[in-house]
Amino acid sequence: MTAKLVQGYEVVIGFETHTQLSTQSKIFSRASVAFGAEPNTQACAVDMALPGTLPVMNIGAVERAIEFGLAVNAHIAERSIFARKNYFYPDLPKGYQISQFEIPVVQGGEVSFFMEEGNETVRKTVRLERAHLEEDAGKSLHEDFIGQSGIDLNRAGTPLLEIVTQPDMRSSDEAVAYAKELHKIVTWVGICDGNMQEGSFRCDANVSVRKPGGELGTRREIKNLNSFKFMQQAIDYEVRWQIDQIEDGYTIQQATVLFDPDTGETRAMRTKEDAADYRYFPDPDLPPLVIGRDWVERVRGEMAELPRVMAERFVREYALPEYDATQLTQSKAVASYFEAVAKACGQAKLASNWIMGEVSRRLNASEMGIEYAPVSAAQLAALIGRISDNTISNNAARQVFESLWNKEGPFGSEGDIDVLIETKGLKQMNDTGELEKIIDDVLAANPQNVEEFKAGNTKALNGLVGPIMKASKGKANPAQVNALLMKKLG
Ligand code: ADP
Ligand code: MG
Repeated sequence: MTAKLVQGYEVVIGFETHTQLSTQSKIFSRASVAFGAEPNTQACAVDMALPGTLPVMNIGAVERAIEFGLAVNAHIAERSIFARKNYFYPDLPKGYQISQFEIPVVQGGEVSFFMEEGNETVRKTVRLERAHLEEDAGKSLHEDFIGQSGIDLNRAGTPLLEIVTQPDMRSSDEAVAYAKELHKIVTWVGICDGNMQEGSFRCDANVSVRKPGGELGTRREIKNLNSFKFMQQAIDYEVRWQIDQIEDGYTIQQATVLFDPDTGETRAMRTKEDAADYRYFPDPDLPPLVIGRDWVERVRGEMAELPRVMAERFVREYALPEYDATQLTQSKAVASYFEAVAKACGQAKLASNWIMGEVSRRLNASEMGIEYAPVSAAQLAALIGRISDNTISNNAARQVFESLWNKEGPFGSEGDIDVLIETKGLKQMNDTGELEKIIDDVLAANPQNVEEFKAGNTKALNGLVGPIMKASKGKANPAQVNALLMKKLG
């Protein structure tokens, strides 16, 4: 497949994502990580870097890193090393951040997702370079202070897993699809709450452009993108900006930039440091992190079914197309809703169609999770049952569904589907005698169509089906009408 070009340039994107791990306490201390406390009430002596304190590894953070590695099919290092990344900043009282450099805990792995391209659905795979454990820094506060800054160390020492991709993405659409998939994985596995407003899932997008087939261009890194919408806007702006620069004869300088949602522009924050500037070296306060294979296997055994494993099972057990299976495993809630409907009605593909169609459309429109859907899985299953036993047509089912969703008329249990069908008069005409009479009347009233059909003009049939459906007030089953017509017309 040829890559999409922007003004003749190929876009290259790699992501670094900081996910805040869902532990109760910090990565190297026992202070709480709860969000929103008064400044400096959740920073202990270790987080404040008081002399004589020592870091102690939080086993829960390691376990979450193992879970992530397993979820993306990565190698979990038997032995990884913590390193000091040295830099000065007021919110970093130690003067260095404890991170992992040369040997990270999670190595390799990949994230796959589907994308619509034209009218094709294509599977994309982004290779992961690594994921490493590190501590977050504190925060400088500027707003409530005049002529000075405040320092809040509550966030200092919060456990992070930084997930780094290879430069595999080729458009902002692909980048956003990757970020959404990664977000799904970490929240599904439960290693991160995924709250983007609170900064639990922050993405840095490295963006460069090049002429197709050329060397990789120089990248600029857009920091701290905390919404999918901003992510797309920021990358699109950055790509246009870089192309304009190059077209105007400038070269791109490697830099760290920020996206301003108010102007929709990216702005240089600082020129980019190289790894050498940080004077990385192994932290003598922390021994190597050793993860035995028995530990990895224990974690594997305790993990819930992963989205891609579940999707494969949906293909196998319910004979669903791969695309459906992936859509239905966007969240645990959607997946369990689907399974409840499919099991109750025994019609997995119909269940999938309804959930990906009528249900999703309404949930998206109201930005609501499926757990709040006004139509329960049992009700949808009952409704599907009434389509497949020919009680109602698809069209009628949509009317019933609409009423259920809007909580019109009787609702609550599956039984009420039948009450709704009855009160709305939506039952299909299944009495052949009654239908035959209607057909006979219509045939008698339209001798010309009958003649034309018998003379070989199959289109003349439409002129008969229409009046029949009308006479039955839309309640005739179209398949049955067709069958009876054919029989009567020979
Ligand atoms: P650093 O940690 O200094 O930011 P890395 O070399 O680890 O640098 O790369 C960080 C991210 O930048 C990775 O996701 C990588 O895929 C991406 N990247 C590297 N080179 C390019 C490039 N030329 N264009 C776009 N992204 C790139
Ligand atoms: Mg970086």
